[in-house]
Amino acid sequence: MTAQIIDGKALSKSLREGFKTRVAQLGAQGVQPGLAVILVGDNPASRVYVGNKVKACEEVGVRSFHVGLAADTPEAEVLATIARLNADPAVHGILIQLPLPPHIDPRRVLEAISVNKDVDGFHLYNVGGLVVGNTIFPPCTPYGVQLLLDTTGTDVTGKNVVVVGASNIVGKPMALMLLQREATVTICHAKTRDLAQHTILADILIVAAGKPGLIVPQMVKQGAIVIDVGINRLPDGKIVGDVDFDGVKEKASWITPVPGGVGPMTVTMLIENTLRSAERALRMRQADDYQDWEAPVIHPVTG
Ligand code: NAD
Repeated sequence: MTAQIIDGKALSKSLREGFKTRVAQLGAQGVQPGLAVILVGDNPASRVYVGNKVKACEEVGVRSFHVGLAADTPEAEVLATIARLNADPAVHGILIQLPLPPHIDPRRVLEAISVNKDVDGFHLYNVGGLVVGNTIFPPCTPYGVQLLLDTTGTDVTGKNVVVVGASNIVGKPMALMLLQREATVTICHAKTRDLAQHTILADILIVAAGKPGLIVPQMVKQGAIVIDVGINRLPDGKIVGDVDFDGVKEKASWITPVPGGVGPMTVTMLIENTLRSAERALRMRQADDYQDWEAPVIHPVTG
């Protein structure tokens, strides 16, 4: 069997075409969706990611506000910047590019973003929403994976899903989303003993470990759907995922390539969340209950 390719680039392209219609509909009601992207410091990889997000926004007519802060910006100033953006009605989504410099507590910063503008879905409120199955903004990468899975026409109900990787931004929310869809979900991580014993049972295998070549054909069930979230740069500059693509594609029924699989979907879902936020803000304003809609302020426990 040679797997069919799940084409994230093509799906992204068609979704982004649809976004233009939604942007035009919002425009007709006097709203231009806006996304603020905060970059603290000048990490070259982060600069590239921010540049990609800003470009993707502009292509579909979302206004982007790029806020660049020096690496030594005090935490209080970052928090003040977020407070300003929280209050700005032209901004519907706020994203802070991670990682942050070591003197800044990422949790404190993420919790400062208004729940209503948390388009990355990293605020505790949105994370908690995932647990009970009604988050406002699903985190972008797992959200994109879910749509990629849908393109295969597979009903995940009752399927064995194995998620390799348990990070807060990919593995854990991914597992929660599929649990919500009544899959039987196993989460593996770096301390899992005998990874293959778990992966071989997967009808759907989702890998987000950041380890090139981690998943080889012997670890994959015949006919499985394999989603490779990993992005790794090899010493020769080549970008690969965590899955031995050439070997595993001979066993899987569907597989995502790297690049061109999950990667393009992450930015696409960020725009989706920003549009949803703008549409939601408009609805609430029209219903004249904008204040009621404000979610409760959550004070993070620190120290
Ligand atoms: P992370 O480092 O925060 O987490 C990695 C997870 O993998 C951890 O839970 C760890 O325990 C687990 N892990 C590590 N080695 C393992 C092993 N040998 N066996 C089993 N589990 C193991 O990483 P992350 O932020 O979740 O990202 C994971 C990968 O996905 C990276 O390659 C990253 O670049 C990529 N990524 C891609 C996108 C995208 O848009 N495609 C988005 C986010 C992350």
